[in-house]
Amino acid sequence: MDAQSAAKGVDVVALVNISAEKWPPRHRTYFGSLAIVSPQPGEAFAITPIRGCLGVMDLGDKRTMEYRITAREIAEDIAREINGDSGEGSYHGVFVAAGDAPTESELAEARRRLEEFQRRLVAAADLEWERTKNPMFITDLERRAARQLGLEKPWLYDARPLADCPVCAEKIKHGVAVCRSCGAILDREKAAQYGLVALDEKHASRNRRAHTDQREQESTKQ
Ligand SMILES: [Zn+2]
Repeated sequence: MDAQSAAKGVDVVALVNISAEKWPPRHRTYFGSLAIVSPQPGEAFAITPIRGCLGVMDLGDKRTMEYRITAREIAEDIAREINGDSGEGSYHGVFVAAGDAPTESELAEARRRLEEFQRRLVAAADLEWERTKNPMFITDLERRAARQLGLEKPWLYDARPLADCPVCAEKIKHGVAVCRSCGAILDREKAAQYGLVALDEKHASRNRRAHTDQREQESTKQ
């Protein structure tokens, strides 16, 4: 088969992606760069059409031979590469449809496999958390899996970026009662719980006074 007849052929398959994740483009010598389409919000899947290609085999002595690579071979290769991205048995929701578009049962099977993999990730994160209580050991992949499964996990929130103290604008952790930098009371109830302020002081304006008092205390100390 020459290049022309290959080009007008109908060798196209549907590479289906059910994951909202964005994949970096795939590169092959025979087609260059290919971006995998991800479903938009509200869409169950996205299709990236894959066409058959001609590969060039180097036979040595400056001789080459063209050979046909079917669309299905290429698509299966890409699906395997993406799904296998995260170690043994990993699955990221990419598969090659048997027909022009995925069937309900193909989609259901892909969802089942993706969920199974995500549950495994969450179980691994749970175990890690139990052992270390250290959010550093929870991977982004594990966090994403828990969010996609709609699970509430204590290890989901500990890596949130720092917030700004509304009083002094220093970076502070979420959920702290008192600003470490300026001493402002940020969560009165929590501060009272630890005996840092009296609970009956409820008004927001008192916050500033507690803040000032604290500074006065500091200056008397000097
Ligand atoms: Zn502050």
